[in-house]
Amino acid sequence: MSNDFQPSRVRVGIIGAGQLALMMGEVAHDVGVETIVLATNVDDAAAHSCDEVVLGEAKDLGAVSKLASVSQVITLDHELVDLEQLARLEREGIVVRPSSDALRFAVDKAYQRQRFLEAALPVPRFIIIRTTADPLLESFLEQLPNEPVLKAPRGGYDGRGVLFPRSRDETFEMIEQLSHHGDVLVEERLELQSEVAQLVVRGVDGTLALYPLVTTVQANGMCVEVRYPAEVSETLKEQSAALARKIASLVQGVGVLAIEFFVTSEGLFVNEIALRPHNSGHWTIEGATTSQFANHLLAVSGQPLGDTSARVAHAVMVNVVGADTPGSLEAARRIPGIFIHDYAKAWRPGRKLGHVTSVGDDAHEAHVRAWQGAQAFGTVMKEV
Ligand code: ADP
Repeated sequence: MSNDFQPSRVRVGIIGAGQLALMMGEVAHDVGVETIVLATNVDDAAAHSCDEVVLGEAKDLGAVSKLASVSQVITLDHELVDLEQLARLEREGIVVRPSSDALRFAVDKAYQRQRFLEAALPVPRFIIIRTTADPLLESFLEQLPNEPVLKAPRGGYDGRGVLFPRSRDETFEMIEQLSHHGDVLVEERLELQSEVAQLVVRGVDGTLALYPLVTTVQANGMCVEVRYPAEVSETLKEQSAALARKIASLVQGVGVLAIEFFVTSEGLFVNEIALRPHNSGHWTIEGATTSQFANHLLAVSGQPLGDTSARVAHAVMVNVVGADTPGSLEAARRIPGIFIHDYAKAWRPGRKLGHVTSVGDDAHEAHVRAWQGAQAFGTVMKEV
């Protein structure tokens, strides 16, 4: 017998220890994976489900190197990372999936818009500027029917870093405000009929597996509810699948790729992408044959992908975002027909604390139950 003991599970190091890493950890052993999370605190959400915790910051090279030294492959739970550092580790032979090149699409919205435009993908009209004095600005604004949407290309999430000015003066003021932090993405404010999300998993060998399209409902820039199936035409579903294949081949990421689309009278526009399991895919835990978390780990550990088809007629997922006072998990647990996911995070108003999913044959019933559960749990979100 050899002394070179090879653990039978692939050791996947995860940068970040939030709810996505928590839910990866919950299914890891089922797919032959052990998770080691890079956490800032011992009580971060994912510390409850992982096999091992490494303490440190996501942008600290020493900490990420330490994580790499006890892992066979590195993946991520968020995009607040230093791409140059990751690229350096890759050059040293550390396997990062998705790669730093692929991650750039998700870390930098301006880069993403530019690359997608070059690839003839449908994106809102945009410019990238550094100051209000940029000569491009006036003529761009003149072309638009409304005031634009302003975005900080890096570091924003859940609507942070996305501004909706209501007048020309406000547009200039807000650009000034955002420009203190770097470039500003100024884009056309589209008339949205709805928003949908397409999840696609890409294996190490480039194989793609697409989840069915879902509707995402947003309020104040934050996702409130996700519904499977998406209430859009078959033509739009086909358009979404074709765009997803094109984007996945362009980005070349390994693992889950989430694409958020705007639905307009002119068809789909790409809003943004994420290269990790995504809020719009939480319904797959109960609603699909293989959850997005299992599939992400299968992909990054180099295994064949799991079946992405739905195994329920309807699924509704509602996020739980902390209200001023905590709700009652016990009360939520008394509601029949729901699955409660508690992220084990300390209560704080405005913080994403969990989600509730309901599945079944009746769309309305699933919607009502999921909302009852989320409200009992104590969400500040309003039913929309
Ligand atoms: P984040 O990265 O913080 O999630 P997004 O860029 O997805 O921010 O924007 C949040 C929400 O703001 C979107 O889901 C959408 O409802 C709205 N939004 C963003 N960009 C536009 C746009 N160009 N036109 C209309 N609505 C937009």
